[in-house]
Amino acid sequence: MISRIDLRGSVPSGAAGAPGDGIDRSLLPRAELDVEAALEKVRPICDDVRHRGTRALIDYAARFDGCTLDRIRVPAESLHRALDGLDPAVRAALEESVRRARIVHRDQRRTDSTVRVVPGGTVTERWLPVERVGLYVPGGQAVYPSSVVMNVVPAQEAGVGSLAVSSPPQSAPGTEWDGLPHPTILAACALLDVDEVYAAGGAQAIAMFAYGTEDCRPAQLVTGPGNVYVAAAKRLLKGRIGIDAEAGPTEIAVLADDTADAAHVAADLISQAEHDTLAAAVLVTPSEALAGAVEQELKAQVAATRHQERITEALAGRQSGIVLVDDVEHGLAVVNAYAAEHLEIQTEDAAGVAARVTNAGAVFVGAYAPVSLGDYCAGSNHVLPTGGCACHSSGLSVQSFLRGVHVVDYSRDALAEVTHHVVALAEAEDLPAHGAALEARFDWKVPR
Ligand code: NAD
Repeated sequence: MISRIDLRGSVPSGAAGAPGDGIDRSLLPRAELDVEAALEKVRPICDDVRHRGTRALIDYAARFDGCTLDRIRVPAESLHRALDGLDPAVRAALEESVRRARIVHRDQRRTDSTVRVVPGGTVTERWLPVERVGLYVPGGQAVYPSSVVMNVVPAQEAGVGSLAVSSPPQSAPGTEWDGLPHPTILAACALLDVDEVYAAGGAQAIAMFAYGTEDCRPAQLVTGPGNVYVAAAKRLLKGRIGIDAEAGPTEIAVLADDTADAAHVAADLISQAEHDTLAAAVLVTPSEALAGAVEQELKAQVAATRHQERITEALAGRQSGIVLVDDVEHGLAVVNAYAAEHLEIQTEDAAGVAARVTNAGAVFVGAYAPVSLGDYCAGSNHVLPTGGCACHSSGLSVQSFLRGVHVVDYSRDALAEVTHHVVALAEAEDLPAHGAALEARFDWKVPR
């Protein structure tokens, strides 16, 4: 079911000095339906929301989510009722997830800092929260109350004033939840005191936050994970609205050697394949024995799991595979080139190998830090860059919701002292008015 890609002998062993050196990225497993391909599908949807607002959102809810809606905004009573009806074990788990996420994200807060550049000249870096953010919580093939936690906690810790959540409406005929986001998502919002929630999914929800509608004020930033259409809409509307990273269909890469437990490796690959038929599960190993044992484990474990069909399709897809490498060094070069959203290191000296990872959304070290822990309760954030974006982007954090603003304060003497340098650079750029703007403040001019 999962294919093998044999890269042995493709680069000299020990070529991992620079990230991904010597690795032909086209040989690595990647999805066929990528964000670029989805762009053309989401463009008309986003344009439609821009022009028809709520009416368009209602139409897409019918088309993509099978729901007939008469409004998009979730009433406050539904949020409270969802929390009241939440299973106590799920409530306790969400509270623990929030508690751990707060410990980590509170520590990410930034404080303003002032640097004295010269006597009389300072530059202060002020950290300002984005004023209004739209938080996307997926809910198509699976529902993600955990993504409420992962979006809301860093936004609150950053001090964002206005938070709105959107998640796809669910079809639940004959119940009070028909046409609303999943009640566990609503309960998680209520638990975190979020009272502005919309029943909109996919690209249309991102467009709602970017353009605004009759019901929803536009936001300055949209964050959160989603499927390939969500990621494509973020790429399309970036600039009109700020985005975090493209956190699309999930990816797990496991770098493992003979010391790894094949049953654990297979279970971890399956746990991420469970998200989406487009999810990527990649094992990178120098061990033929481990590769064979993981293949056997996958067969046995997939047959016993609930979402067999989705998982089988994800594992058989072009985005998944077992990559055979010469040794752990070579494997390190491969995973650095791949830049997975989640990277597990299950090798001898896992911590030492993990310290040499340069490209990954998050790294999970050793046998007792599986990705599922990070999905829910490690304290780390699970909204992470996919599709190779981990080589330039970070996962969601408090920083994602902040802007650093330089505040420049120079005295007359400090400005006078540097004016001749500014004039010289302005002349070199043929922008003499720049120099003149400084000279206008003094009764002398810099000799040309
Ligand atoms: P989703 O909410 O992302 O997407 C559902 C929406 O997709 C629907 O409401 C619909 O509007 C839209 N859609 C479906 N088919 C469409 C089509 N053919 N054309 C246009 N739009 C269409 O929920 P999902 O589908 O369950 O996906 C959730 C995704 O989030 C998974 O891929 C999962 O791996 C990913 N995820 C990623 C991270 C991360 O940090 N990278 C974290 C959690 C989840």
